[in-house]
Amino acid sequence: MISVDEALAYILKHFKPLEPETVPLLEALDRVLTEDIVSDINVPPFNNSAMDGYAVRANDVVNASKERPITLRVIGEVAAGYTAQQSVEPGTAMRIMTGAPLPPGADAVVRFEETSEGTQPKGMRDRAAVQILKAVKPGDNVRNAGEDIRLGEVVFPKGTVIRPAEIGVLASLGKQFVSVHRRPRVAILATGDELVAVDEPIAPGKIRNSNEYTNAAAVLKAGGIPIRLGIARDNITDLTAKIRAGLDADADLFLTSAGVSVGDYDIVKDVLNAEGEMHFWQVRMKPGKPLAFGVLHGKKDVPLLGLPGNPVSAMISFEVFARRAILTMLGKTKFDRPTVRAVLTEDVQNDSQRRNFIRVYVERRAEGYVARSTGEQGSGILTSVARANGLLVVPENVTEVHAGEMVDIQLLDMPEW
Ligand code: AMP
Ligand code: MG
Repeated sequence: MISVDEALAYILKHFKPLEPETVPLLEALDRVLTEDIVSDINVPPFNNSAMDGYAVRANDVVNASKERPITLRVIGEVAAGYTAQQSVEPGTAMRIMTGAPLPPGADAVVRFEETSEGTQPKGMRDRAAVQILKAVKPGDNVRNAGEDIRLGEVVFPKGTVIRPAEIGVLASLGKQFVSVHRRPRVAILATGDELVAVDEPIAPGKIRNSNEYTNAAAVLKAGGIPIRLGIARDNITDLTAKIRAGLDADADLFLTSAGVSVGDYDIVKDVLNAEGEMHFWQVRMKPGKPLAFGVLHGKKDVPLLGLPGNPVSAMISFEVFARRAILTMLGKTKFDRPTVRAVLTEDVQNDSQRRNFIRVYVERRAEGYVARSTGEQGSGILTSVARANGLLVVPENVTEVHAGEMVDIQLLDMPEW
């Protein structure tokens, strides 16, 4: 048996970030930049008002207060989207709206609330003059050109993961298209004579093909493009045909499920070996002991991960190996799930001498996080994953974790809490 870390290191050597492609801005969400983004403008592009108020020369109003207001002549008004036609000379002010460019001559803005306009009923405003009730310093209530982003600055280096905030910044720079690593295409093939498709009735001895769906959903979550090849029967002709169909579909990664453990008819092993170079491993993990990995020879070489057939094992193996491979192809360099530290509410045994991935439910209580197992942990109990929002990873050499101990829980895809 090889260790999880050995298997992972070997597998990840076969993956690298995929080529760049240029995509419309929104399609870059959750993807990784392949170019440095350099700003060709200042953001904001000009000094502008942070408030609705009056643009003034701070020097004119250094002594202004409620008790001793200073009166300025109002020379006009500037709204967002327009520029002032006059400059603010000593003794004058210009009405200004949030986002409007600061008129020449002005160096600060006094908020309406701190002028006579703020105290007068609407419609009664004196249009010719305003009383300033508070002193301002140069720069007060002004947003300076380039205070967010400077012309020529590297705003995002290549390798940056694009989230909504990055999308917004890129939009403000006028980037309609950006260059990101393309998404990996992941071929998904279920194998087994016992499988029926989701829309078929169950017949004696048959079960539904759930692995195709969990795998496809997990591929989507990780950022890949699933290519669903359906079910291959346990015979050489059908398996070979479906494997070749996946290679013809330009897959970057091939995922199969089942047929890689010891008790099988070995047809999957024979076909995979005929189509490429494969390793059939027993990995020191629970669930997910059987795992195949190798490279298929199509038009190009395509790495194949042969996941176990048991639905829970397939999911955990995906989580540990396939997910990281997909993230690597997307150009991501961080793979670890966020963790929380929680109190375990029950004893957990691990006599397997394998790394044990216990499905748990974490809850936030007043006293902190608590985690409990989601019950029966058999590798066929897919609802044990469905009920879980986290994984407790018990190391190979730890035989028991006791109730009351603090443990790290890896958070899985989960709804907000
Ligand atoms: P195997 O790896 O072929 O020995 O399969 C292990 C277990 O996983 C068996 O109980 C299979 O019936 C089950 N299994 C295999 N493929 C799937 C699948 N696509 N969906 C759900 N269960 C499966
Ligand atoms: Mg089988």
